[in-house]
Amino acid sequence: MTGADFIIAINLSISGLLAVAFLAIGFLDGRRPAARWFALGFGLGVLNFLFEFLLPRAGGAFAVGLAAYASFLAALAAFDVGLARLYARKVPWRTLALLFVAGCLVRIGIEGLPRDLFARQLAYQFPYSAMQLVGVALVWRAPRRLFDNLLLAVLALSTLHYLAKPFMAAASGGVGASAGGYAGTFYAMVSQSSGTVLGLMVALLLFIVLVRDILETLATRSETDPLSGLLNRRGFEERRDHALRQRASSGLPVSLVLCDLDHFKAVNDTHGHAVGDRVIVAFATLLAERAAGHHAVGRVGGEEFAILLPGANLPAARLFAETLRSAFAATSIPGLRPDQHFTASFGVAEAGRGESGAELQARADAALYAAKRGGRDCVRSAEPTPVGGGGRAPGAVLRSF
Ligand code: GH3
Ligand code: MG
Ligand code: MG
Repeated sequence: MTGADFIIAINLSISGLLAVAFLAIGFLDGRRPAARWFALGFGLGVLNFLFEFLLPRAGGAFAVGLAAYASFLAALAAFDVGLARLYARKVPWRTLALLFVAGCLVRIGIEGLPRDLFARQLAYQFPYSAMQLVGVALVWRAPRRLFDNLLLAVLALSTLHYLAKPFMAAASGGVGASAGGYAGTFYAMVSQSSGTVLGLMVALLLFIVLVRDILETLATRSETDPLSGLLNRRGFEERRDHALRQRASSGLPVSLVLCDLDHFKAVNDTHGHAVGDRVIVAFATLLAERAAGHHAVGRVGGEEFAILLPGANLPAARLFAETLRSAFAATSIPGLRPDQHFTASFGVAEAGRGESGAELQARADAALYAAKRGGRDCVRSAEPTPVGGGGRAPGAVLRSF
């Protein structure tokens, strides 16, 4: 067994293990078809290394050489499909198929040429490089962050690496007199091991990007209310407390608006639960439309909602709540008569210095309670906390809008 044989055997094992690992991710998270395409890519890599291993033992048979070439080109194509899926791009099926067929034809066409001919070696590597370039273009056109940029860089390096191989062959004493002799050359060792390092770098970055996306999806899902699409209670409280911590350093005001739909039990009883859900969705849609990017909007109870307004003082928050109140009172619900309207009540509070998120929300809740007692379909605001003081107990002095 030559040194290059040994590296081929290692590559074969690594490719097999990576294929299994990507397959596992693909099955664990059925919404990620990219992982299964990467698994296919590494599976085809295993085939490629098998043919490479067999080639010298088959006396350099053309069919084995072509199978080795085609399996590697197909592996690169499978990675491109995976990259397109990963970055939600259109799969360039036609380009991939054309490159695959053209690459195989080139491989067949150069069979009779002398192995040490530079042009033959370049023609041999060019389809690999072009196939990898498709992957580079796919990632290049996608929105990218740190690890996507690193992946892009390694893919670009890999694209250049194929074109550099004929130069590497010339510098390291040639590619061997025959297909069988290739495995014994120094070039074979360099070529195979540099391919391993780049392949491993690509695999690790793909793992990182896949795992990052999975974690982000889970985090978003655990903080999102499925009916309204708004933050759920956990997500809202996290944003609320984060905004209050930031307020401590920025000194800018922060206000909170709590809303509760009026007589909602009666809405359910009269129109049914499905219509009740539609009213909840209509109110949530209104909040999402009216809120700015820096606001946090959450469904914090069945028909209770909260909006955090960083940068808004009490009068601004009260004005905001009043526009919501009047807009909702004029909103029609899909499936009901256009003149059939519903209302909501609002409680507003501005954070005092050193006040916690829970304390702020308790004061807004007390103001909301006052709005309910005051006849509903109205806005009430909590008195500001005294300068330097902490939160005030729920039920503290309340002001009418
Ligand atoms: P008030 O004006 O005082 O708020 O009266 P209300 O009837 O709205 O009283 P309350 O806030 O206590 O009622 C909440 C009702 O909201 C009770 C529950 O049946 C209903 N509800 C809670 N979650 C959902 C939901 O997801 N869908 C529907 N359709 N109804 C819900
Ligand atoms: Mg209610
Ligand atoms: Mg309620």
